[in-house]
Amino acid sequence: MPSYDYRCKQCGRAFALFYKSYKDYDAASPVCPQCGSSDLTRLIRRVSIARPSPNLANLSSGEMLSVLEGGDSREIGSLFQQVGDSAGVDLGQTYRETAERLQKGDSIQNVENDLRAQASNTADE
Ligand SMILES: [Zn+2]
Repeated sequence: MPSYDYRCKQCGRAFALFYKSYKDYDAASPVCPQCGSSDLTRLIRRVSIARPSPNLANLSSGEMLSVLEGGDSREIGSLFQQVGDSAGVDLGQTYRETAERLQKGDSIQNVENDLRAQASNTADE
């Protein structure tokens, strides 16, 4: 279940919201629970991938999205490194395509948009 941290620009209150799917997140218009303002800024939560490297192949598009949303190129780079270390493992289509596009210099924003679309589609099934 995706969750996002926000901070209200009006009163400064920080809070977290949970969504059933990325599609719900896209459709949501969150407001501050304290003052009702919709003038919010989203806080980026660090995502830690605790699984051993072979299981990177099983990352869902939503999880890939979380990593990219972190915007930390070292984190993304370490994912690539871990996958490189687990040669012989089927990396999965989502990962392969994402890795390929990033390596070709496609922008994180472009890749992120496509992953978001994929996550939405998956949530519909
Ligand atoms: Zn507020």
